[in-house]
Amino acid sequence: MYPSSKIEEFLEITRERVIKIDSRRVNEGDYYIAFKGNRYDGNDFIQDAFNRGASGALSDSVEGKNILSVDDTKNFIFEVSRYILKKNKTAKRIAITGSTGKTTTKEITFFLLSKLGKVFKTRGNMNTEIGVPLSLISDRKEFYDAEFCIFETGTDKQGDLPKLVDLIKPNISVLTNFGTQHRGNFKNTREHLNEKLSIFNDTYAGLISIVNTENDLIKEKVGSFPGKTIEFGRKNSGFFLTDFEYSNDSTMCAFKVFEESRLLRLNGIWNRGQLSDFGAAYVIAKECGLDEPVFYMQEFILPYSDRFALKFIKGRKILDDTYNSSLESLRTAAESIEKIKAKKKIAVVGSIFDQGKYSEESHKKIMDYLYPFDMILIYDSDKQIDIIKEYSGVKLFSDDPVEISKWLLKNTFEEDLIYFKASRAVKIEEIINVFKESE
Ligand code: ADP
Repeated sequence: MYPSSKIEEFLEITRERVIKIDSRRVNEGDYYIAFKGNRYDGNDFIQDAFNRGASGALSDSVEGKNILSVDDTKNFIFEVSRYILKKNKTAKRIAITGSTGKTTTKEITFFLLSKLGKVFKTRGNMNTEIGVPLSLISDRKEFYDAEFCIFETGTDKQGDLPKLVDLIKPNISVLTNFGTQHRGNFKNTREHLNEKLSIFNDTYAGLISIVNTENDLIKEKVGSFPGKTIEFGRKNSGFFLTDFEYSNDSTMCAFKVFEESRLLRLNGIWNRGQLSDFGAAYVIAKECGLDEPVFYMQEFILPYSDRFALKFIKGRKILDDTYNSSLESLRTAAESIEKIKAKKKIAVVGSIFDQGKYSEESHKKIMDYLYPFDMILIYDSDKQIDIIKEYSGVKLFSDDPVEISKWLLKNTFEEDLIYFKASRAVKIEEIINVFKESE
């Protein structure tokens, strides 16, 4: 659709440039790409990007000096990434999807495969039809040199994932799990499930399917996956977690790999879901030829400060899980918090988004997963969670971070654990920030 000369021109202009899609973040010399979003049109901010020192811009509605014009910037960068992908056909391509744990699995896999050779990975949580191409464009040098390429692929509506899989054409496809995340955006469970299973596309030769079969709906489908299939998460599979416990600042875990027992001490506090992600990464790394991933994991540290990260603030154990929420990640957190030692355990929780017609059911279910806590506080800046008002036992409902922080200061003490969890859009981390700054 786009002549290769135009793609080459774009690649040449952006060769040594940092790419930005938010004009407010543009620094001197950066290259700005304008996208039309739901609320804003990035084309309206091209002048702002130039005022901040942009060296050039890609646009689908504005023309001018140092502006490369295309008919649709989203399609264009998608085609550019297809062009880049053709330049390294020998590397093993690994595509990771799932309701939760994509980024964690990607990071652990990156760490393990780096022991074998050069690895490219998509950046952060850039897992959409914009994020994956932008990652490839920004880190094309790493991609060209890589022996292993890891792509995080997301979907929050039907059709997202097949498009990415068709672009990447993975040799190894991974499903970390299937749950209720974003389920409100799909017509029904079948449509949601089929979307997730589209990661296992049989048109690419030599596909290896690595799949968490804890969920019965997935287990039923296993026989139909193409190529070699390796299961994890169940007994007698490629990886099965048998036990875990915490001591000081580390996690001891016991697991079986095809019935062989292994023990491992991991740095930091890992929840059961994150240990399952380690299981996925373990199987991927073995498939790629790493002898025994356990040898290397002692060096690994989870690189986040907002996904089940334990911090000490004002003598309290703050468990920061503010990055996002879903019923599954809440359940896995509860199973893990049960095992953490603390005087009292307090939960501060907010809404779970993208539940659509299931919103009421999902929010009622939240209470089932708050069993390890002595006290529960609800941050209802988003009102979906107000359905819990029917339940007794909630100490405070508030949409004011200052009020919640004051309550915590007054009613919690040293050695208490305070857990924070809500969907990204809730921005529940504001309460931690206020708590930290308060006198
Ligand atoms: P994603 O990239 O799919 O959004 P992340 O790896 O960023 O997932 O983790 C998001 C949240 O889900 C964190 O709270 C994390 O502790 C939790 N989590 C991670 N892996 C799993 C899993 N396998 N099952 C349930 N929850 C998980």
